[in-house]
Amino acid sequence: MNNTNRSKKVLRSTEVSKQDDLQKIVDEILAKNVTPELRDGATQLVFADGNPNADVVFIGEAPGKNEDQQGIPFVGAAGKFLNEMLESIGLERKDIYITNIVKYRPPNNRDPLPEEKKAFWPYLVRQLDVIQPKLVVTLGRHSMEYFLPNQKISAIHGEPKRIVFGERKQVIMPLFHPAAALYNGGLRQTLLDDFSRIPAIISKI
Ligand code: URA
Repeated sequence: MNNTNRSKKVLRSTEVSKQDDLQKIVDEILAKNVTPELRDGATQLVFADGNPNADVVFIGEAPGKNEDQQGIPFVGAAGKFLNEMLESIGLERKDIYITNIVKYRPPNNRDPLPEEKKAFWPYLVRQLDVIQPKLVVTLGRHSMEYFLPNQKISAIHGEPKRIVFGERKQVIMPLFHPAAALYNGGLRQTLLDDFSRIPAIISKI
């Protein structure tokens, strides 16, 4: 086997083992019946989408109606805007990994409750342990607050921070949630500007 084929094979086996490890997390969320009330009201678990070998992981809040129906995060209006922002920095969904802190749709799209975020947090940490991204981008305050407690998103958005949580050292970049920009036109340009910094930040890590 030449070196190129060998490295392709190694890459494929890393992908397979990451997929296996991620599937174990899914199986455990289901077996342990995490947030049973949310589960009862939801169509399905919305675990993640994208590439487990990505350098960057995006973390949103919780699935909405479209995500609940399709089982894929960020496929509704906020997801469309997110895809546009990714395109603006030369990325596609297959280049990133995306998930939410809470993985079932809350009823009527209400905000996820503190105990729901707490229940899913250990599984999110394990997802990150499997993927080992260079950069974690939080979308909105719900996913930011566990990584960067007691901070205001309006003060720190777009600023990468080095943090330690569990065993991991991680660079976190908090951004506004794309849905916020759909309701507040002024935030649209702020988000696009913050997004434009992502490639340079990744290349420096
Ligand atoms: N908003 C989120 O935070 N997550 C989704 O998956 C969709 C919308």
